[in-house]
Amino acid sequence: MDPILEQYQQLVERVRTYATAAELERMERAFRYADAQHAGQKRKSGEPYIIHPLHVAAIVAELGMDMDSILAALLHDCIEDTGSTHEDIAKLFGPTVANIVEGVTKLTRMQYVTKEEEQMENLRKMLMAMSKDIRVILIKICDRLHNMRTLEYQSTKKQREKSLETMEIYAPIAHRLGMQKVKWELEDLSLRYLDPVGYEEIAKELAAKSSVHEEFMHGVQSKVEQRLAAEGITCKVYGRVKHIYSIYRKMYTQNKTISEIFDLYAFRVIVDDIPTCYNVLGCVHDMFNPVLGRFKDYISTPKPNGYQSLHTTVIGREGVPFEVQIRTQDMHQTAEYGIAAHWKYKRGLNGNLGSEETYEWVRKLLESQQDTDAEEFVRSLKVDLFADEVFVFTPQGDVKSLPAGACPIDFAYAIHSAVGNRMTGAKINGRIVPLDTKLQNGDIVEIITAKNAHGPSRDWIKLCKSNEARNKIRQWFKKERREENIASGKVMLEAELRHMGITLSQVTAAENLPAILKKVGQGSFDDLCASIGYGGTTAVKAVARIKDELARIAKGQEVHAAGDGLGVIYPGMGAGTHSQAKAPKHTESGIVVEGLGNCMVKFAKCCTPVPGDPVIGFITRGYGVSVHRADCPNAQFDHTDAREAGRWVNVSWVEGDLEAYRTALELSAPDRDGLALDVATVLSALKVRVCTLAARATDDGAALVTVEVEVKDKNELQQVINKLGQIHGVSAVKRMTG
Ligand code: MN
Repeated sequence: MDPILEQYQQLVERVRTYATAAELERMERAFRYADAQHAGQKRKSGEPYIIHPLHVAAIVAELGMDMDSILAALLHDCIEDTGSTHEDIAKLFGPTVANIVEGVTKLTRMQYVTKEEEQMENLRKMLMAMSKDIRVILIKICDRLHNMRTLEYQSTKKQREKSLETMEIYAPIAHRLGMQKVKWELEDLSLRYLDPVGYEEIAKELAAKSSVHEEFMHGVQSKVEQRLAAEGITCKVYGRVKHIYSIYRKMYTQNKTISEIFDLYAFRVIVDDIPTCYNVLGCVHDMFNPVLGRFKDYISTPKPNGYQSLHTTVIGREGVPFEVQIRTQDMHQTAEYGIAAHWKYKRGLNGNLGSEETYEWVRKLLESQQDTDAEEFVRSLKVDLFADEVFVFTPQGDVKSLPAGACPIDFAYAIHSAVGNRMTGAKINGRIVPLDTKLQNGDIVEIITAKNAHGPSRDWIKLCKSNEARNKIRQWFKKERREENIASGKVMLEAELRHMGITLSQVTAAENLPAILKKVGQGSFDDLCASIGYGGTTAVKAVARIKDELARIAKGQEVHAAGDGLGVIYPGMGAGTHSQAKAPKHTESGIVVEGLGNCMVKFAKCCTPVPGDPVIGFITRGYGVSVHRADCPNAQFDHTDAREAGRWVNVSWVEGDLEAYRTALELSAPDRDGLALDVATVLSALKVRVCTLAARATDDGAALVTVEVEVKDKNELQQVINKLGQIHGVSAVKRMTG
């Protein structure tokens, strides 16, 4: 039989159970159309091109998605690779299918460059934002899955690029959408190309012991089945070895060998209803010894992506621990297919669903979760829901997030105020555009600047959408009127000084002024007045600092420039060079790896080091060097084992002005209202950038607040820790490890 028709028949078999005759006819028309459009095109494997959309459609069908999605999957490369247009497809198969295909095409056209984590998160959000209909991203994920399955035919360079992109963009999105099965396959396929050695090592080890694994799993399976049958419970029990990437991650982040990995096996018990889930749990705990602290009830508190199950880890007679997941058939569908499973449930009820209704469902599901991850997810989905953000690229491929409706002026000021102030024009996707053009998701924006530009025009304040741009433009106008600002600032300063009982001559006295200026971070007395004049700082703030400084001078104490956040001394930089010294050029990460030149550096998530921390690097295979704090539990290794020790390298911080570093802290305190608010207030007073903030109550009436902040170095971090420790009730502030 013709391979194309054979592949098509498989698709038909898959949808036959739920498609109507009319739908099957529509699908056949789409297949014939796509086949004709792709006629003569070949894939790298040498197969006719149409085989690819057919496979993608089959994956989409396996997820149980609706007929519009299957049609769109069949047609997904038509706009990109053939002469078809949106209108053609709309006319033949309806506007919904055409819109989805167009959405997938847009995502296909996006170019990614590997970036640091924050940029990746923006990229993921951008992808979701561009998928106005959630089916677009689902089909794109299926498309990527098939491309990853057939990656062997691509060049080595392409394999690496696609795998990295899959690992960093598509697998996390699949996870976010709750599509476990797809996520696992994407991760394993990517790993195969990113770290072939590491992948092989695990795959071989698993294969070599496969009969042992089989026997063990079979033993547990039949034991559980017998017991549950005796209890009169109908169920299905499945056993599996965990997927390769999850083993890999554990091995390399916890620095363990495969034999040390705690739980290699996972069992699933699928039952009819929720009460039975808890019954089964009781039986399992009766049969095996439960491992303390490993029981998790995701039925009463589902995960943010909608996942529900009971999890427990138990130890059998052989002393081998294994995980058991217990859930209903419905929960199982959601666990495997995530958001895609939604179509399966709803199909019987009211047939076709508009995307709005779908979002409503997603939103409700997610908003019912009281978890920061859930909030984060809702926020990222809200990007689609309420369209309050737009994501665009710089010419270098960085992603900038701006408020919806933003124009190139917003973009320019988001890059730097100097860029905005010198802007004379803008290009979007290579074409010169008016400055009030609304930016669209995925646009590449380039700002044209000139040294002798006139500066912003007053109209810009009305054209731009972001407060940042507006403030910066206002500031420019204020700075332009420096004389006026100095005069008015001086008046305000004098008034405040008088209020505090300080005379102006005390401030301007030659023996006091330099220290005071350093303390308030200004170059001259005029600068200080001007800054107060245009609102860069307030007289109250400035005078408070002046008062402190005068008191210190009076006490004859030594003045420390560092330690108050205005200037930071780096270890090894010699005192006295701190404020004016130009920082030496630094590598992007701020880390120098001994013996390795320019290599990829990632900061370990477990201990999030910041400059000043003693650090050590671990050479991952394929992911560059991962940097841990020297005291991180995951960085403790056996020095006598040469093979293991060989993967650890000395790393050090470069000196000078470094970027901001993200790190995590944990506060404990008796639970009370307003605790998280106090934490947020302290951090904002310190002007520390907060990335995440989450509070949860523990069983014993205490509260744990975890917060991720960005700091420049250990000194600043210590300051943050000190201030947080002073919050009412806080008993401990710890850095997170492990
Ligand atoms: Mn494709």
